[in-house]
Amino acid sequence: MLVIKGGHVLGVGVADVLISDGAIAGIGSFSGSDEIAADGLVVLPGFVDTHRHLVQSPMRGSGADLSLGTFLSDVLPRLVLPPAEMRAAVLLGAVEALHAGVTTVLDWGHGSLDVEVEALHESGIRAVYGVSPADAPRFTPVGLVSAAVASFGPALSIEDNLRDIELARSLGLSTTMHVTEAGSVARLAGLLGPDLHFVHGNACTDDELRLLAAAGCGLTVTPPVESMMGHGSPVYGRFVAAGGTPALGVDVVINSTADMFEQMRAALWLERLRGFPLSAGSLLQSAGVDGARAIGLSNVGSLEVGQRADIVLLSGFSHLPPDLLPGGIVSTAGVADVHTVLVDGRVVKRDGVLVDHDLASLRAAVEGIARRILA
Ligand SMILES: [Zn+2]
Repeated sequence: MLVIKGGHVLGVGVADVLISDGAIAGIGSFSGSDEIAADGLVVLPGFVDTHRHLVQSPMRGSGADLSLGTFLSDVLPRLVLPPAEMRAAVLLGAVEALHAGVTTVLDWGHGSLDVEVEALHESGIRAVYGVSPADAPRFTPVGLVSAAVASFGPALSIEDNLRDIELARSLGLSTTMHVTEAGSVARLAGLLGPDLHFVHGNACTDDELRLLAAAGCGLTVTPPVESMMGHGSPVYGRFVAAGGTPALGVDVVINSTADMFEQMRAALWLERLRGFPLSAGSLLQSAGVDGARAIGLSNVGSLEVGQRADIVLLSGFSHLPPDLLPGGIVSTAGVADVHTVLVDGRVVKRDGVLVDHDLASLRAAVEGIARRILA
């Protein structure tokens, strides 16, 4: 029995969290054989990143002035990596996510099912692997790695998209897809449901956003990347106004940081600039429970008995009264505040240090990939 002792459990107050068999077994007053002292720390659910291309992790920061069009035509075709490099790239990205307190990631796969899943599993993160339709029938869950069918979406070919959704449903998997243009969602009108997860949606009409919300579809907004690359104005507030609960994703680290703090903050800033009413603390829902729901997970994203123990401990906020904590975290927290991270009850980062991996050597291992591609 593991106990997180004396932390400020967000939404509860000072309490202990009892963890048993990887799940939250109690929130109250406990002692256990193994204890994590959490005095002065905030205890909150691990962050859920619902859209990231982990394979691009070696390319960090290389796309600050790239438009989406240039990226797709000039950079993406060169990102076809041999298996060993693919594996190293995904492992780096997953560990970078864990370091930032992201305990669940939807990783958009890039066609090397076996090595990508192996890397996700090795990292210790909980992952939904976006498997290609061709590989989907042979996917089997490994540890904390499940799958969703990654479809190119309705804009490229509606026929392929419909076939992908049908395939995913026959396999009992969700479908995840990019959608940036108006009219795409409307074409799927009769098929919408909670097993469909859309990403971006910048040009979606308000009617389409209402369709998505009413059908319980997931919608992930990636504010920094969309702002940087010209996807169009992020739909976070418009989706809230349409009755939806947006999720947030890092998407790519070529021009976004690897954490959810910046995603929350960028969404907040954009909506505040527009005058859209949004409490800062509400963004935590998008990076937690709403994100989990958007990608079909009901057992993570909140701190409740019975949920899997995906938990983050943040330092630096012991001075704030409980009502100011959520907004304080959203507006000012960063990776340096991520003190301890647990995934499925297992400690993957403790006292600011990763337990199983060394980020610097993982970065060094992939340095050649970026140098080669950028040359
Ligand atoms: Zn994407």
